[in-house]
Amino acid sequence: MKVIEPHIHMIARTTQDYERMARMHTVACCEPSFWAGYDRTSALAFHDYFTHLTTFEPRRAAQYLIEHYCWICLNPKEAENRELAREVLSFIPEFLDKANVLGIGEIGLNKNTRNEMNVFERQVEMALERRQLIWIHTPHLNDKLKGTRMMLDYLKGHGGVEPERVCFDHCEEHTIPMLRDAGFWTAMTIYPVTKNSAQRVVDAIERFGLDHQLVDASGDWGPSDPGTLHDALFEMRRRGHTEEHVETVFYNNPCYFLGQSPHFKPQPTRLKEAAWNTVAEERK
Ligand SMILES: [Zn+2]
Repeated sequence: MKVIEPHIHMIARTTQDYERMARMHTVACCEPSFWAGYDRTSALAFHDYFTHLTTFEPRRAAQYLIEHYCWICLNPKEAENRELAREVLSFIPEFLDKANVLGIGEIGLNKNTRNEMNVFERQVEMALERRQLIWIHTPHLNDKLKGTRMMLDYLKGHGGVEPERVCFDHCEEHTIPMLRDAGFWTAMTIYPVTKNSAQRVVDAIERFGLDHQLVDASGDWGPSDPGTLHDALFEMRRRGHTEEHVETVFYNNPCYFLGQSPHFKPQPTRLKEAAWNTVAEERK
């Protein structure tokens, strides 16, 4: 069974992680643009970063037969600097046509400020104007519910947003229902130490269903591990889920969502309708 990692920051990982992922049957990984761990000192630093994501990283991944895709945006943490935001947004469009770019992301909120929301809205507009998919970062910890609601309300009230083409990441039990009810995709991130564990993610899949649901390991420069994705895969198998349902979550669902971008090449093994029988139905 092939696996797709929908959210990982390979710029922060070693080549050894590509080796491990290849051994664990990962055939594609997707890298959203994010904060570097420090505030960049100029817009040109973002230009360099986007160039890295669209040239060097796909070449590095290809040595391990992994297709590398990315998302381009200005992350919410650096959206407070309005002059910087204006400059960075001005050259994002030139990257959207690059062969491995899937859309605009991970846009979103961090501290739920007005500047963050403003940059979020402008990047949503940019995505809609250019028919790009959208990948959304929801704030961590106490700000998560409020920030998720702010973005959800905006997108629902917008009128021109197709929920099927938008995925909210870092979702938890208290944010998933309202997003699913509105037709959006949700993704859950697993961390080895804090936040979501592999067990908790599988609990949520059993509770909410298989459709419109992605799982990612979110490897970055913090405590994280690409192998946690495979821990969740193993946990689903251990609980007796069928191979078809495991494949739906870890391979086919990413194909259904990401495949809406003409740049994404992996093909699902089954039609979406056939794959989305719920776990509940399977257990009847
Ligand atoms: Zn991220």
